[in-house]
Amino acid sequence: MPKRQIVFISTCAILTSLVLIIPSFSVRAILALLLMACVGALMISFFLARNYSQEAHLQDEHFDPKEEKSAAESFALSKLFAATMGGMREGLLVVNKDMRVVASNTAAYRLFNPTPSRLEEQRLTELTRNPAIYSAFLDALKGIERSGVKVETHGPERLVFDLRVMPLPGTNGGGAEGALGVFFDVTRLERLESVRQEFLSNVSHELRTPLTAILAFVETLETGAMEDQESNKRFLAIIRKNASRMHSLIDDILELTAIEGGNVQVRSAPIELHALVTDVISSLTNKAFAHGIVIRNFVAADALVYADARRIEQMLTNLIENGIKFNREQGQVTVRYEAGARDRIVVEDTGEGIPAQHLERLFERFYRVDRARSREMGGTGLGLAIVKHLALLHGGEVTVTSELGKGTAFTIHLPPMRDG
Ligand code: ADP
Repeated sequence: MPKRQIVFISTCAILTSLVLIIPSFSVRAILALLLMACVGALMISFFLARNYSQEAHLQDEHFDPKEEKSAAESFALSKLFAATMGGMREGLLVVNKDMRVVASNTAAYRLFNPTPSRLEEQRLTELTRNPAIYSAFLDALKGIERSGVKVETHGPERLVFDLRVMPLPGTNGGGAEGALGVFFDVTRLERLESVRQEFLSNVSHELRTPLTAILAFVETLETGAMEDQESNKRFLAIIRKNASRMHSLIDDILELTAIEGGNVQVRSAPIELHALVTDVISSLTNKAFAHGIVIRNFVAADALVYADARRIEQMLTNLIENGIKFNREQGQVTVRYEAGARDRIVVEDTGEGIPAQHLERLFERFYRVDRARSREMGGTGLGLAIVKHLALLHGGEVTVTSELGKGTAFTIHLPPMRDG
């Protein structure tokens, strides 16, 4: 086998290992490009070697056993490449000067999903009508490397790719012999980015409202209201309320970010639920009293659940607080426990209930049925999202049922207590 091919193969093997090991997307992207370039060069080198050996064979009638050995090695190598390409997440497509596919991998096949069983020999125009893909390959054939071309598919699932295409130079220094395209799947990254942007804009909006109120009242005080004893007390109370809303909002955002970022550990142990619920109720007595609400603990004295006590306390506090806030005058909040295939802790209130169309989205961040009312009550719109994530961290979930005019019941489902 020619030395050049051995060098290409060794480089490919090293790059493949690195692509598989390294977690960083950008480093993997660069390595994958280098790998593609090596593979392309190797293919061209094979192609030329084969042409050369065919010509030589025609000229020389004598059979050379060394040539047969080289053919066997080439066959083994092509298998190695097929396996490498097949295992790659990035789609790979090599076209020749006529824009016909000469090499591709399984990921590229899935991307184009053509009627024929293979991409090879197909014209690029037969595979896709996407002008961005076509012009990127055309530019590469003219010697211009293209990167960052955004490609979207609109099949049953919307996928987004970042396409890079580079020319494959000819051996005798002429123009490009072909072009090599790598499709990086950035669907997940795009989705995360849009969730992040939406979250940021929600946070800014939520913070701006209390901040605007604080600034407005400070200004009013500065422009004379300070002299008026009555209104200056009232204004200070409003400023305090808005500042503490910002405080709770930041606390909840930090908490949610920590949970979602995997920085919150759940340390499960057997918990005496009745005692824990009694503690939570005591801490909320003032709030309940202010709203004229009675909270009842219906959990059996011997009920045990297997969970993280601090986190269960946090979930129950959020749910019972909501039960108080969204209740009617002289209403009730009850907490009970039901054992079964999964343990269930139910927090039920006698409030106005939640219209059915809101139930599905209720656990989303910042989702509120009545935004103005939630704000008025000092809510952040993050409490239920925190409960949902904490339940998931326990290997459980939280569900809701509600009846208009009668009340709402939130249920925390937990994996049952383990024996021993
Ligand atoms: P908030 O800080 O607004 O309470 P949550 O995430 O805890 O945020 O709740 C989201 C929204 O769900 C609330 O604004 C309210 O509209 C609705 N909600 C939550 N719990 C109840 C309940 N027990 N009864 C009626 N509506 C509720």
